[in-house]
Amino acid sequence: MKHKFFVATYGCQMNDYDSKVIESLLVSENYEKASSAEEADILVVNGCAVREHAEKRALGFMSSLKKVKNRKKMMILAGCLANSVRILPKFVDFAVSPTEYRFLPDLIKEKRSKRDLESNGDYTSIKVNQGITLLAPISKGCNNFCSYCIVPFMRGREESFSPESLIGQIKMSMNGSVREILLMGQNVNSYMYRGVDFTHLLSMVLDEFKSLRVRFITSHPKDIHIKLIELMAENKNLCSHLHLPLQSGSNRMLEMMHRQYTYEKFKSIVDEARRIVPSVCVTTDIMTGLPYESDEDFKKTMHAMEELRFDDAFMYRYSARRFTMSRYLEQCDETIALGRLKEMIDLQLKIRREKAQSMLNRSVEVLVENRSARAENEYFGRDLSNRSVIVKSGRVKRGGVYRVKINEVRGITLKGETAEEI
Ligand code: SAH
Ligand code: SF4
Repeated sequence: MKHKFFVATYGCQMNDYDSKVIESLLVSENYEKASSAEEADILVVNGCAVREHAEKRALGFMSSLKKVKNRKKMMILAGCLANSVRILPKFVDFAVSPTEYRFLPDLIKEKRSKRDLESNGDYTSIKVNQGITLLAPISKGCNNFCSYCIVPFMRGREESFSPESLIGQIKMSMNGSVREILLMGQNVNSYMYRGVDFTHLLSMVLDEFKSLRVRFITSHPKDIHIKLIELMAENKNLCSHLHLPLQSGSNRMLEMMHRQYTYEKFKSIVDEARRIVPSVCVTTDIMTGLPYESDEDFKKTMHAMEELRFDDAFMYRYSARRFTMSRYLEQCDETIALGRLKEMIDLQLKIRREKAQSMLNRSVEVLVENRSARAENEYFGRDLSNRSVIVKSGRVKRGGVYRVKINEVRGITLKGETAEEI
């Protein structure tokens, strides 16, 4: 009888990808995917250490599995959280970090940790099971050491994968359902492999996979180049979406965070992007409650949000993380930080509602990803600028691209009818 495994994922798209790698490796070793933790022999919790909240959720879920864990079941902690937790709870058999996945089948057989943080985590030779969106890391790690961020300590130094191995990996993992490629890196703009920079790499990928949409995430404002925006204007398959984390609207805070750009530089990138590609959606990450953030600094962030009117924003309350510089500073009062977060969320919601209203009666091209969980005959998809759209029709299929006329806007939700398949 085949052994069964269950992987629970907490975290960002990099963690989603890590889970795909783990699942693909285990399936290729003849393990079978279980539909629940109860029926699995191997339980993998793939967690994220970037924020305290995310870490607590993953560890909380892991504890909740204690009741299904018995001597026959193996419990494994994975993802960047595996590097962050120093003393494993007793019911966890071992931890495997992102640089060690290829050893996982052996580690399961031997029931032990490798804890070899030096091994290189090149994913590109592992055949990964992919869905409509093919996730493709172009690099690993990060060299930026923003003062609040644990990522460089968890995922190691930045290393760009060669264009040949990346394109080879995409081809190897290609299947009939893939419709778009999502290139991923902590800072895609600092990609560099023997003279090939990120824009060059993108052109190579667009050239090689002409029938697919291509997206990328995340752009760092300090390294972004105008050539990239120009490529977006020239090539329709390159989605007009920039995820450009601002973090703060105050130059004083940006300096303390070690972000290496000013608000003025950030604004000029957004203005240029919107001038060159009018359809571009600009989304962002913003934090509040960092050590020494004053009311004045916070007002500047709110002003930036009003001025830049992001299409979407992930907003976080800062939490002190192991190894980072800013954990040694005097921490901001929790009530003040939570109050600021609420103000930010309210403002962004208002902006998103207004932006959603402005989409009424407009036509967009939607790639249908899934049936909606909420209603029969409704599907979920994304347009070329990465806006979420609900398609009301019984006739569309997953993976199809349709021209959709937005005819209903509820809050921030866009709904439309399909006109034709493209
Ligand atoms: N490489 C990306 C971000 C990766 S982490 C970049 O530089 O933009 C994703 C987001 O988590 C960050 O943009 C930041 O907003 C948030 N984040 C990182 N560390 C955090 C911390 N200690 N507390 C709260 N949010 C944090
Ligand atoms: Fe963290 Fe900064 Fe690197 Fe992003 S660029 S992963 S925020 S250190």
